[in-house]
Amino acid sequence: MFALKALRSFSPATKNVYLRSKQAFTVNISRMQHGQVQHEETAAPFRPETPMAKTLMDIGTRRIFSEEHDLFRKNVRRFFQEEVVPYHAQWEKAGEVSREVWKKAGEHGLLGIYTPEEHGGIGGDLFSAAIVWEEQMYCNCTGPGFSLHSEIVMPYISHYGSKAQIEHYIPQMTAGKYIGAIAMTEPGAGSDLQGMKTFAKKDGTDWILNGSKVFISNGWISDMVIVAAVTNREAKKVAHGISLFLVDSGTKGFQKGRKLEKLGLKAQDTAELFFENVRLPAEALLGHANKGFYYLMNELPQERLSIAVMALASCEFMFEETRNYVMQRKAFGRTIADLQVVQHKLAELKTDICVARAFIDSCLQLHSTKNLDSSTASMAKYWASDLQNKVATQCLQLHGGWGYMWEYPIAKGTIESTLTSCITVWYGACNASCRKTLQRIVRAAEKIIGVSLPSLQDIYGTCLTRKALCIAGHTASSVCCHQGGDCGVSRPGPAD
Ligand SMILES: Cc1cc2nc3c(=O)[nH]c(=O)nc-3n(C[C@H](O)[C@H](O)[C@H](O)COP(=O)(O)OP(=O)(O)OC[C@H]3O[C@@H](n4cnc5c(N)ncnc54)[C@H](O)[C@@H]3O)c2cc1C
Repeated sequence: MFALKALRSFSPATKNVYLRSKQAFTVNISRMQHGQVQHEETAAPFRPETPMAKTLMDIGTRRIFSEEHDLFRKNVRRFFQEEVVPYHAQWEKAGEVSREVWKKAGEHGLLGIYTPEEHGGIGGDLFSAAIVWEEQMYCNCTGPGFSLHSEIVMPYISHYGSKAQIEHYIPQMTAGKYIGAIAMTEPGAGSDLQGMKTFAKKDGTDWILNGSKVFISNGWISDMVIVAAVTNREAKKVAHGISLFLVDSGTKGFQKGRKLEKLGLKAQDTAELFFENVRLPAEALLGHANKGFYYLMNELPQERLSIAVMALASCEFMFEETRNYVMQRKAFGRTIADLQVVQHKLAELKTDICVARAFIDSCLQLHSTKNLDSSTASMAKYWASDLQNKVATQCLQLHGGWGYMWEYPIAKGTIESTLTSCITVWYGACNASCRKTLQRIVRAAEKIIGVSLPSLQDIYGTCLTRKALCIAGHTASSVCCHQGGDCGVSRPGPAD
């Protein structure tokens, strides 16, 4: 067993490896600048990128990881195989996972990895956290809401919480003894949080909370929920009057409603929450009053990145499942993998996945140095989750009728893929909203080139991102790859 103690000693080492490689790189640059180095072999062993690896889920690949990460990944993979896979079908029936799996995840050091050690987290790097996200998708078990708890809920407390809140919640959450959730969505306020009705009224130093939330992941089994509520109805915009509160289960007036029946994520509980005259002490307020919306916006890049990473890992899993399937399934006297049309389809899917992998890994790198901006994170989430849909549909097709049977993992993979993009997404916002963020890039680009682009409201999908990228390229190189292309924009470029 990879004990928590071992992981704690591993984490600073990871940081050291990172610092050492950064130092070596800086020294090399300076020597190159002074003409002392013509060509120098790097000491680090070569790590193949995803397209070169035997399978898309191989350990020991990708430049963003180190050998220590590989060791960690092996242990995480074993954890999911031993502690999650055997119980998942049972949890799907129950509509929730066991509390034991949370405690075991805590013992193995899989929770709060990216939360600083001085706050009671593991203090590991982002890449280690991403390994847990990926490995969960590689075993096709969406049940435990670890990523939501660790990299969505915990950062709010770590970033905006008081010393007392950090000391009270973070160590227990890292240990898996306290499960966290975040409640923003309401029956009448989803994509547009500004329609929020849940209200917290000041009463002396206390707050009185009234309202309801819906679709809350981990809501049923949670011990603490971060609740977004309006605290200033007079604010010019609703966004200027929203605050966040830490509400413990069992607080008088806080009721959990139904566990909602869902199309997918069967083992992950998604609940309704009700608040009726819930009296909260001043200490329950997270950060400053009326700043909640800004906190939510600040945390979005990491939320979207985690969804993108998981969506792409799911693509890799579905691809490998399908590759294995077509290699053993016989038709017309040979395996279906022998059919050229199937080989072409797999080649196309693998290319799509590997291209996305390069982008998502670069987003991970950007975020590890706190440089991932909201637009790039939106692109990542939107692109990877749309790709997840494409890969699911096409891999399902390659499985024929068997793919429709629940006993085949591709069936579950396909259902889960509907959540991340087209219908709606947990905390990460639907892809329509992500495209709205991307529209801002296009609008900015319009200003640069001084040409108005037609009806952007109607232009969605691949086209919009390509267009944003194309415009960026256009301004830089005077070449427009999309003139009259499928984005529907026909306009003269500066070169014409
Ligand atoms: C399984 C699951 C888990 C969830 N977990 C959580 C959670 O833990 N915490 C939480 O707070 N919420 C959670 N949610 C809620 C989720 O964040 C919302 O479903 C999402 O924000 C969309 O809101 P909505 O469902 O009300 O859709 P609506 O806002 O009603 O939107 C419906 C559709 O309208 C279109 N649309 C919306 N906005 C735009 C736009 N700007 N431009 C163009 N088209 C648009 C899109 O097609 C969208 O899908 C969860 C949802 C699900 C399904």
